[in-house]
Amino acid sequence: MNFLRRRLSDSSFIANLPNGYMTDLQRPEPQQPPPPVASPAQERKQAAPPTGTSFFSSISNAVKQTAASAGLVEQTPATTSKKFKVLLVIDDPQTEWAKVLRGRKILGDYDIKVEQAEFFELNLVSHADGTCNVDMHVIRNGTKVVRSFKPDFVLIRQHAFSMAENEDFRNLIIGLQYAGVPSINSLESIYNFCDKPWVFSQLINIYKHLGPEKFPLIEQTFYPNHKEMIIMPTFPVVVKIGHAHSGMGKVKVDNHYDFQDIASVVALTQTYTTTEPYIDSKYDIRIQKIGNNYKAYMRTSISGNWKTNTGSAMLEQVAMTDRYKLWTDACSQMFGGLDICAVKALHGKDGKDYITEVIGSSMQLIGEHQAEDRQLIADMVVAKMNQVLSRTANASPQRSISTQQPQSGLLQDGQTESSKTQAQRPAPQGGPWQPQSQEVVQEQAQGPSAEGVNPQLAPPPTSQQGQGVPPTGQILQQQPPPRPQPPVISQQRTLPHPQLNKSQSLTNAFSFSESPFFRSSVNEDEAKAETIRSLRKSFASLFSD
Ligand code: ATP
Repeated sequence: MNFLRRRLSDSSFIANLPNGYMTDLQRPEPQQPPPPVASPAQERKQAAPPTGTSFFSSISNAVKQTAASAGLVEQTPATTSKKFKVLLVIDDPQTEWAKVLRGRKILGDYDIKVEQAEFFELNLVSHADGTCNVDMHVIRNGTKVVRSFKPDFVLIRQHAFSMAENEDFRNLIIGLQYAGVPSINSLESIYNFCDKPWVFSQLINIYKHLGPEKFPLIEQTFYPNHKEMIIMPTFPVVVKIGHAHSGMGKVKVDNHYDFQDIASVVALTQTYTTTEPYIDSKYDIRIQKIGNNYKAYMRTSISGNWKTNTGSAMLEQVAMTDRYKLWTDACSQMFGGLDICAVKALHGKDGKDYITEVIGSSMQLIGEHQAEDRQLIADMVVAKMNQVLSRTANASPQRSISTQQPQSGLLQDGQTESSKTQAQRPAPQGGPWQPQSQEVVQEQAQGPSAEGVNPQLAPPPTSQQGQGVPPTGQILQQQPPPRPQPPVISQQRTLPHPQLNKSQSLTNAFSFSESPFFRSSVNEDEAKAETIRSLRKSFASLFSD
């Protein structure tokens, strides 16, 4: 005991502990209200032995967790004896998904244990046997919380990629996919959504299938680099550089000279660009689809910025129409099906609509029905967890390596069941558009909106599916303010991941052959052969005397 005390007061010993050990030990014991959705900290605490041994068990737990995350200890399959399933929600802390999902059960009597973090707070190790160990470093109320867990399901509510600095999390998407973790939206679709022109190519396929009347896609031109950006037929145009969000990288260009200037900027970016005609618009349209729930919104700039998602704007819910539904249903079937999605369009002063983009499960919720939308997302998560995890549990105690996520979808006109099945195969990237199913979408940060009715807003055509749609033109809600970023984000993003480094050094300290996963039958055969060899030697030495 005294030895341990001395060791723990030794600063070099503490400095060499894997990150989070001492914070775990020094952290004040959390209050324990008994929410139905248990937090991992509470789970760990409940599992801890009585007072007196908790100090040592904290150390051994921390060692186990770190070793587990480094792949150094064998772990029980995630679906064996525990009475909860772990849902990883990748979202900012503004929405507390543990509260949204409180009291929900799956597979009969399993709780859903929600782990929520932003992309930049996560790291993971995935194994081909289907295990995925996620490390999470989050700051909660000024306290650093470090957790390791194996997610059974993932809800992804943030962009996995932006060309803005430090916003490339595709490696994590690959890691989740590698271990076959099921998710909303599907990991295939999220990966495919990491290049806007790639998604636009799917819109082109829909346009070809439905025609310009039913699916009025904006004209767009793609340039893989600046070299061919020489001349545009008409001005003004909107130049969209690379893959970025919230209005970033979008420039309105009024003449040839400015276009040349922008082309010279693109030359430095080493990325692609698209151009499209500038639409003098009355308002933006957004039709969102969460499962089978549709909502349509119109957004009008108030501050005068041509980007209605920059500066202040007015947001109103409008009636769903068959036309909007067709757009959304068609888009929701791309990349094997989108559980959550939204179609973005511009309504021009010429009275025409121009579809510009589709977004996925990272879409921000807007309007006054956000609480309802969150519940809809929760419903979908629960339904899909039930569907996927029960199938997995039946198939094997371990998660299946290839998780084709079935998407509940609508059949398009003329689509056969077999074509639907075919379309639900894991998405070959950029394959031709096939009618399939649905997805979730998230929106961008919006500027604060002002209240008031815009008399110029034209009511959308026909009302459809009385889904709580208020009288057209009524202002429902201001746009939400931009999502506040935790003050330490930029600093944290530029810092190396402390636990990762520890885990890596731990991993490196052992050869791969030490890992349970790589401990193959070949090694066992070698061991047997070695035993036989030594027995032979023993017998030989006995008889040689
Ligand atoms: P996201 O954040 O959803 O990934 P974004 O906000 O970065 O996308 P867009 O939605 O394409 O990018 O453009 C931002 C805003 O600019 C739109 O909301 C719209 O108001 C305006 N806009 C985009 N394209 C055009 C266009 N061709 N003509 C006129 N206005 C446009």
